[in-house]
Amino acid sequence: MLPDLPFDPAHILIGGAWRATADTLPLGNPSTGETLTRIARGTAADIDAGIQAAHKALNGDWGRMTAVERGRILSRLSTLVLQHVDTLSTLEALDVGKPLSQARADAVALARYCEFYGGAADKIHGETIPYLDGYTVYTLREAHGVTGHIVPWNYPMQIIGRSVGAALTMGNACVLKPAEEACLTALYFAHLAQEAGLPDGALNVIPGLGAEAGAALSGHPGLQHLSFTGSVATGAAVQIAAGANVVPVTLELGGKSPQLVFDDADLDAALPFLVNAGLQNAGQTCSASSRILVQRGVYDEVARRMGAAYRAKRMGAALGDPDIGPLISATQKARVVDFLNQGKDLEIIAQTDTPQSPGHFVPATLFGNVPPDHPLAQQEIFGPVQCLIPFDTEDEALQIANGTEYGLVASVWTRDGARQMRLARKLRSGQVFVNNYGAGGGVELPFGGTGKSGHGREKGFEALYGFSTLKTVAAYHG
Ligand code: NAD
Repeated sequence: MLPDLPFDPAHILIGGAWRATADTLPLGNPSTGETLTRIARGTAADIDAGIQAAHKALNGDWGRMTAVERGRILSRLSTLVLQHVDTLSTLEALDVGKPLSQARADAVALARYCEFYGGAADKIHGETIPYLDGYTVYTLREAHGVTGHIVPWNYPMQIIGRSVGAALTMGNACVLKPAEEACLTALYFAHLAQEAGLPDGALNVIPGLGAEAGAALSGHPGLQHLSFTGSVATGAAVQIAAGANVVPVTLELGGKSPQLVFDDADLDAALPFLVNAGLQNAGQTCSASSRILVQRGVYDEVARRMGAAYRAKRMGAALGDPDIGPLISATQKARVVDFLNQGKDLEIIAQTDTPQSPGHFVPATLFGNVPPDHPLAQQEIFGPVQCLIPFDTEDEALQIANGTEYGLVASVWTRDGARQMRLARKLRSGQVFVNNYGAGGGVELPFGGTGKSGHGREKGFEALYGFSTLKTVAAYHG
């Protein structure tokens, strides 16, 4: 059962008005396999109306607002998100299937994004540039204009916080297309943004299918910037569609992120990170650590201790706040089961039970001695599956770590300071952590990939640069 909502979940938000669409779609509950409610099936015409409303906002109150006023709205929004944290986490648990405490952490992170960006709004400056005699030259950071945001189902609140939050901070007007599998917190966030005083049309939210609403948004000529998070195939398609209108695109496409564990590592400190970075949100995390590279001297101990940690994990329905919840959908389950079948000849160190339930559960599985070129060690699985890969030397570890098409996050566990520095430089990865992993979300930390993990950076001040464009003014005054 859904909590009481202050809006109709089958409505879209355009220009400050909630309205119905011609058709609706069922929204599933991954924990039970049942339908939770119906949501809007946004069309190309709805997207077009959203883009027009965004342009109108830019030409109206929103476009005239000062940076400090925009920052205050974001700060109010942060407070409201915290006041509504219970409802937001329940909604995210229900439609994503995310264990309740993990959903709560995402809601708190959403508030933190709004707090961070709200405080930064009036602290983004241009610069003056020494030039020829008789000139004064300076740069201005300006909004792109209308920004599109195509968001996946795995971390709706966090991804909306990092992209929509930053775009609004810089004065853009947003059109948000949440995923058809999980869009309730996107709608709730938009409702809270209205309450925080965001002018009409500054944020428009249009759920719908990727091939319909998503494609219409990415190919719309009225867009000035597009932020996409999701799969490589869709990211490439979205980039081509936006490219036809020469619209800049930020792509965040996932990874095959390694943790490198050396013989001298503090294993007590490493163990929780090694396991949880792979199993959080049932492994459906772009920065999931799905490859654990372990030096031969500690391989057996790491395998034994990780196996024990797996066997202690509880799997169940999201509202019961288990350690591991279900996957998002039957399709995603079939995809992960297919990967598990591809690993049938590999060593299985540990595998959890699954609950007796029509929900989309798959057993969390730890594979051992996985060859680095095996499909399980190369492809993004997006499920609770990790591969242990032994290595002998630092060079070999580096070669394996850099040996996929991806490069999003990596970590190095060692007490050797020189090795920490060497590997931090040589790992092909958007983020490198030393003796930790993920650092609790890191709203302040620029985030994004290399290779097929994508391009562009979100989070931190880099996001504010990414969601703005630089104008150079060269004034000749003699
Ligand atoms: P997807 O990339 O197809 O969907 C992500 C978003 O893109 C959704 O909002 C969807 O509606 C939209 N979309 C889909 N097709 C589109 C199109 N043609 N034009 C514009 N927008 C479109 O991802 P998925 O099918 O939901 O998941 C499949 C795989 O993608 C997963 O197994 C996983 O490997 C990967 N994935 C990665 C992330 C990540 O955070 N990096 C998130 C979700 C999925």
